[in-house]
Amino acid sequence: NLKVERLERKLQAIDGKGYKAYKEIQGSYDGKGFTLHIDYVQGDPFASPSRIRVVVNPLSKPFKAEWLEAAWRRTALEDFLAREVGQAIRTKQPAAKRDGGTGSSGLIWIDAPGQEVLMRTAVVARLEQVEVRLSVGLPAAGRRILGKQAAGLLCRVVPDIVLQAMSGFSWEVLQEHLRTADRQQAIREYLKRERCVAFVANGAILPRESGVSNRPLSRGNVVPFQAPPSMERSIPLPDGTTITGMAVPEGVTLIVGGGYHGKSTLLQAIERGVYNHLPGDGREYVITDESACKIRAEDGRRVEKVDITPFISNLPFGKDTNRFTTEDASGSTSQAANIMEALEMKTRCLLIDEDTSATNFLVRDARMQRLVGKEKEPITPFIDRVRELYDRHGVSTIIVLGGSGDYFDAADRVIMMDEYSPRDVTEEALAIARELDSRRQMERGEGFTAPTERYPLPDSFDAAAGKKEKISAKGLSAILIGRSQVDLSNVEQLADPSQTRAIADMLRILFRRSFSKGEGLREAIDRLYEQVAGEGLDVISPFRGQHPGDLALPRKHELAAAVNRMRTLRVK
Ligand code: ADP
Ligand code: MG
Repeated sequence: NLKVERLERKLQAIDGKGYKAYKEIQGSYDGKGFTLHIDYVQGDPFASPSRIRVVVNPLSKPFKAEWLEAAWRRTALEDFLAREVGQAIRTKQPAAKRDGGTGSSGLIWIDAPGQEVLMRTAVVARLEQVEVRLSVGLPAAGRRILGKQAAGLLCRVVPDIVLQAMSGFSWEVLQEHLRTADRQQAIREYLKRERCVAFVANGAILPRESGVSNRPLSRGNVVPFQAPPSMERSIPLPDGTTITGMAVPEGVTLIVGGGYHGKSTLLQAIERGVYNHLPGDGREYVITDESACKIRAEDGRRVEKVDITPFISNLPFGKDTNRFTTEDASGSTSQAANIMEALEMKTRCLLIDEDTSATNFLVRDARMQRLVGKEKEPITPFIDRVRELYDRHGVSTIIVLGGSGDYFDAADRVIMMDEYSPRDVTEEALAIARELDSRRQMERGEGFTAPTERYPLPDSFDAAAGKKEKISAKGLSAILIGRSQVDLSNVEQLADPSQTRAIADMLRILFRRSFSKGEGLREAIDRLYEQVAGEGLDVISPFRGQHPGDLALPRKHELAAAVNRMRTLRVK
């Protein structure tokens, strides 16, 4: 490697030249206690910023081996460091005070995490060194290089920010971050061991600031969560203490209650409990089975050869529901497909909210059964499958319902939200069910068969992307493959735009590598995740060995959801 002083001289030499001359600075440079890698130089001031990495070596205080051993701890450590760098950048460079140059001139940026603690590429920690992945806007006035500013930015400001962040953080705060991850892991293990699907700790703050913010609600009267006594459990934690809250056992659980009493807020917290959250989030001890899938109606989505017969058969004009394909699913067919696809990915828990469900998919009451005979109704409503899903297939359901008591017959547990406080009303609901017969007929039809693996065809991807592999993420909820858009706006458990970028990279791998070897959807995804677990998230990037891009690991379920929503998907 060259010395940073060489970089400084190069930058001074190109001062005032046209922007293209920046290309010369690509390369690696050693400074005092760090190495700077300039991996990608932007083509002009308005293009996406340049990609650099700063490796700090040696660390002023090496990390402890025990922080890096377990996967959840390593993720928490790297997450913490990325937040620290983000904080250091904000302190050094308040948003309004960049260098005043053109485009992204003077920008320093790291893909700092949000409320979730996810495996991400922003920071890679080892015992003795840390690698930080950043983006910078190379300084320019118009299209002219500002060489002196660039020298200051790359040779001093950026290394200082990173070095300070790596030596200046509080070990106490870091240890608390790691202890939180340990507790979250202990709760996850407890849920598995004790056959529960979700846990909500007493004192948890569930509501969010607003519909577009993921931060805890702090204005006005917030009601902290308090478990109903009959569902309360204390879970032992690694530090010898316990944590107390509501455990939701496997089976069928209803969340009922009046409008605006906090039903959806509770379910949303449970949906997000598949991820760990940072201390202070309010939901850091809301933990859900990692495989739990939110299921909603999603009319207009495409569906490719999904067996939806457990829910829908005998469509008009004899349309096939064994291998149901449509360019434009209805509310009920989309919800059925979403369930079958979640089952294909081996979910152990379905999360459903009546607010985002098709009514005719959830229930058909006695009067409607009388008027419209079974032979005229293609839908077997979810109410007639929900027990069988658990009893025969081990798949639990948590469902929010304000409008239909017909579900009481199928429930193991009924939780009522009453002014944001949960009450266990199971006994009352079962007594009511005995007293007031719903008069419904069970519409079981044939037994429920679990979905079989589907085999995507590799040219599904070429059909959109062409040979040039044009694929890119657009924010949180869209991926563009060539000119074909994959709409993920109804994939509600996708949490971070960096997950969407990772999905884009993973789609390329699945279609270019796995599916062309004839692997099935779940098999291919399992294999890819094994590789990520073994080698790190960088393996999914086309820029391995360099700045891999700003990526965070999605769940397998969201990756599968993206495959399933490709307009060009074809399966064998
Ligand atoms: P429901 O689904 O029962 O109609 P929501 O869950 O949508 O009700 O909640 C209604 C409103 O109450 C939302 O604005 C939400 O932010 C707020 N809210 C939910 N839980 C709490 C709570 N524990 N404390 C204060 N406000 C809450
Ligand atoms: Mg609601």
